[in-house]
Amino acid sequence: MDLAFTPEEQAFRNDVREWVRSHLPADISHKVHHAMRLSRDDMQRWSKILGQKGWLGWGWPKQFGGPGWNAVQKHLFEEECALAGAPRVVPFGPVMVAPVIMAFGNAEQQQRFLPGIASGEVWWSQGYSEPGSGSDLASLKCRAERRGNKYIVNGQKTWTTLGQYGEWIFCLVRTSTEGKPQTGISFLLIDMKSPGVSVRPIVLLDGEPEVNEVWFDNVEVPVENLVGEENKGWHYAKHLLAHERTNIADVNRAKRELERLKRIAKAEGVYDDQRFRDEIAKLEVDVVALEMLVLRVLSAETSGKQSLDIAGLLKIRGSEIQQRYTELMMLAGGPSSLPFIYEAMEAGWQGDQAFASGLHAFPAEHAHCAPLAANYFNMRKTTIYGGSNEVQRNIVSQVVLG
Ligand SMILES: Cc1cc2nc3c(=O)[nH]c(=O)nc-3n(C[C@H](O)[C@H](O)[C@H](O)COP(=O)(O)OP(=O)(O)OC[C@H]3O[C@@H](n4cnc5c(N)ncnc54)[C@H](O)[C@@H]3O)c2cc1C
Repeated sequence: MDLAFTPEEQAFRNDVREWVRSHLPADISHKVHHAMRLSRDDMQRWSKILGQKGWLGWGWPKQFGGPGWNAVQKHLFEEECALAGAPRVVPFGPVMVAPVIMAFGNAEQQQRFLPGIASGEVWWSQGYSEPGSGSDLASLKCRAERRGNKYIVNGQKTWTTLGQYGEWIFCLVRTSTEGKPQTGISFLLIDMKSPGVSVRPIVLLDGEPEVNEVWFDNVEVPVENLVGEENKGWHYAKHLLAHERTNIADVNRAKRELERLKRIAKAEGVYDDQRFRDEIAKLEVDVVALEMLVLRVLSAETSGKQSLDIAGLLKIRGSEIQQRYTELMMLAGGPSSLPFIYEAMEAGWQGDQAFASGLHAFPAEHAHCAPLAANYFNMRKTTIYGGSNEVQRNIVSQVVLG
């Protein structure tokens, strides 16, 4: 196993770094570096900039308009984006549904849907989970009944991330109740502007409506929007989930946030506390170990060896690390870390103005602490979404231990 980057890979990294740093808008990277709330426009603006360069589908092969990078190049690109303070690309289009359309969609679907995903123009959402069908996803009930050249969809999806912005949604729907639950599921692409689709926000612990319920009431979907074969959707869904879990591990963001934690700890005076520094050191060891794991997988892939199926393991470690750094940041900020202040997450927030409620003024020297507790609350989600960590442990134990 060779974990060192070659001179060619270093040169590639330098080129990517230069491009990312010269094209990433300063107001967006400022927000990312200070964990401020990103608007829809912030997220989509960066996606479109990447799209114009042909890098929004950075994992895509050339055949579908991607750069055709190998595993190491993809990793270096992701790392440079994270370190520069680029927002995480909303994954539902380029990272999740696109690989399914490439692998299982027909040529017409590829021509119709991939360009809008690659350019960042079309916002996709993920419609898998339902009330009562999260970990036990195969029990899903949202029904699609075929009538002539249409499916009529009725039912509900839930926890749909950023579904309030969704223009299209890829859904797992029940098309048969015969046999095992997994064999009656299909993969359908639904235009969210169709009559009968409604979206209702769910407000989370940090006060943000980041997730939604999506309801389907006699929604008509043309049969051309079925990906692959009817009742084979479970197979396609599993293909997608491996991409989702590897993406969630996000070791590059952890490296950036570790440095931010150190800056906050120093500014708040707790870096001098030996016990606090021990906690930071333990976290750093785990981040480096996760990075080594990612590099091992990349090394195995580039040398053509079959890598372990460890997407679940990366998801478990990555999400735990994300939770620990937000917790340590909040501890460092102490009483200056507030649970949710919308104004504090807006661009231009100076931290020294009175709250909208007019209760008290926020001390300017602690301005960097304002969103820390909100982030802490928000990151409780990471051990649940994309398949809970308990369920991932079951999967890892089956795959690795047999
Ligand atoms: C912030 C957020 C965003 C999300 N975004 C999306 C999205 O965009 N699209 C989408 O489709 N879904 C989304 N989800 C849903 C997510 O995939 C589910 O929440 C997750 O799969 C868990 O399902 P559940 O919530 O129904 O919990 P349950 O399945 O009811 O689980 C409850 C608890 O029981 C445990 N448990 C369940 N089964 C087992 C088992 N066999 N062994 C051990 N423990 C078990 C779980 O670990 C968990 O702790 C999102 C969730 C969150 C929190």
